[in-house]
Amino acid sequence: SHISVREVLDGLLERFKVQQEKMNLNIVVDCQDLYVYANKGHIEGVFENLISNAIKYNVYDGTVSISCYASGKNMILKVQDTGIGIPQEDQEKVFQRFYRVDKQRSKVISGTGLGLSIVKHIVHFYKGSIELESKEQKGTTITLSLPILVHTIPED
Ligand code: ATP
Ligand code: MG
Repeated sequence: SHISVREVLDGLLERFKVQQEKMNLNIVVDCQDLYVYANKGHIEGVFENLISNAIKYNVYDGTVSISCYASGKNMILKVQDTGIGIPQEDQEKVFQRFYRVDKQRSKVISGTGLGLSIVKHIVHFYKGSIELESKEQKGTTITLSLPILVHTIPED
């Protein structure tokens, strides 16, 4: 059905409030008023996993920037963080089930290593694409293109 991306996003950000405050994170949202024809659980799963990573692998006082916009029938979604980053040699592997970067930091930051594999499955389901850019100690940007019928509400 048609779902409001902003509504999904607002609901999720509410859930991350406590973690956000603990790390004193600045979360910047730049999202068009977008309606997508997709499964709501899929869209929630994508946002939830990407935002959860951008928060937990961030640094104190860091920033998370989320943007989404329509491009033809695609939704482009970008989640950028100022966190610890992913070493070059791990960047391909993080989409594999259960893969987590080095044991040292995985001990401190909990997770199962499934989040990004779920995101990848959803992206493939819609025949979309996923791009990861990351620099250690600088941050990570994930960009998704999801070919789902999108329409925007024009601003007045
Ligand atoms: P889960 O999402 O299941 O709770 P997880 O976060 O460990 O656990 P993924 O989301 O699949 O699993 O991410 C895999 C690994 O990639 C993480 O363990 C982490 O090492 C690395 N990673 C993912 N996102 C980021 C990010 N934004 N910044 C730095 N490292 C990241
Ligand atoms: Mg995760």
